[in-house]
Amino acid sequence: MDKAVVHLDLDTFFVSCQRLVDSSLIGIPLIIGGSSNRGVVSCASMEARKFGVRSGMPQYLANKLCPQAKVIRGDFELYTKCSDLVTDIIQESSPLMEKSSIDEFYLDITGLDKYFGCYKWSTELRQRIIKESGLPISFGLSVNKTVSKMATNEGKPLGALKIEAPEIHSFMNPLSVKRLPGIGNSTFQTLSRIGIRKIGTLAEVPMEVMGKLLGKSGMTISQRAKGIDHTPVKPYSKRKSLSKERTFQQDTIDKGYLRTLLTGMVEDLCFKLRSDNWLTSNISVKIKYTNFDTESKQYSINYTSCDFTLMRLAFELLESVYQRRMRIRLIGVSFNKLVKGRHQIDMFEDTEEKLALYNTMDRIKTRFHKGAIQWGTGFMSKQKEEKDDSEIKPAQDILFPSNRHLYESVGGDQKYHR
Ligand SMILES: [Mg+2]
Repeated sequence: MDKAVVHLDLDTFFVSCQRLVDSSLIGIPLIIGGSSNRGVVSCASMEARKFGVRSGMPQYLANKLCPQAKVIRGDFELYTKCSDLVTDIIQESSPLMEKSSIDEFYLDITGLDKYFGCYKWSTELRQRIIKESGLPISFGLSVNKTVSKMATNEGKPLGALKIEAPEIHSFMNPLSVKRLPGIGNSTFQTLSRIGIRKIGTLAEVPMEVMGKLLGKSGMTISQRAKGIDHTPVKPYSKRKSLSKERTFQQDTIDKGYLRTLLTGMVEDLCFKLRSDNWLTSNISVKIKYTNFDTESKQYSINYTSCDFTLMRLAFELLESVYQRRMRIRLIGVSFNKLVKGRHQIDMFEDTEEKLALYNTMDRIKTRFHKGAIQWGTGFMSKQKEEKDDSEIKPAQDILFPSNRHLYESVGGDQKYHR
């Protein structure tokens, strides 16, 4: 039996949130994002998109295309609040929900059609979200995540598109390969170079050829082009955390060594964050003294997955937590209060160069192994690697005494919608 998978995506989410709190922003070309010229666009209103402005585009280019646009910095606290509200509404009505980013959701509603048409159900849910949150949202309904997401994208804004199993190929084949989820700019270039521009063409290339061309992701892309996607809708769990700790075989007092270890751990965790599309808003460092006394400290920060930002904070935390002249037996670092944020390194300090650097590093790590490329100091820690425990666990397991707000929460969303 075919599955019924709904993909929901809030339309120009950051723009819509800003308009909720300031109605003077309605109807004008509006850009959320880079306040400096080196920044990138996080989100653009439909009025700005008419001039060619897109998410992920360098701000200087957006300014050139649409000089009359109003540019504002993002307010991530507002976006989180709006996102939580929508999440609650969906969770209340849906049997199985996955939150794949701050403004995107997948629902598996297989079986609902017996009692209630899936399309009718989705339409009513969508109307309820719009009524209760004031935020415009689109949905796509089909038999798997890939096709549903594409249906949402094609129907936007205010879309409600259903693609049934027999219609999948006629729906997908004429579309540009760019519209296939998982195809980024560099894959698009590679495919263009060998003349593959339409999904229909891509679907005809044997999977093995795609595998040779693009590695493991080539096989996935090949399947998706045929409208096949077995990825399940994963149940949503609220805040998660990601942590790593080392217990030393011999207790140490060597701060240089501790910093080096910390660098390696932060680097690994950051890679994991970015691979799974997470951003963290809280970092903590803990140490255990030789007499088993444990100390820890944490900072609340602006959402990020940037190695440099988090390393610097980890060093600061280590300095403030390691106060006694006593050997320590364990050091740990954890990132807490994670949110989904795709193609993002930092909510408001992303620049094109930084995104490109991290994308390249992560590609090398994914293709080979995570030690294939490392920051200078992190490399040394691998030479002396000891016990390594990393896991994702619920944040409520972790209790810390202090809390310090380093930055205001400002930021923006950043992704290519098309
Ligand atoms: Mg959206």
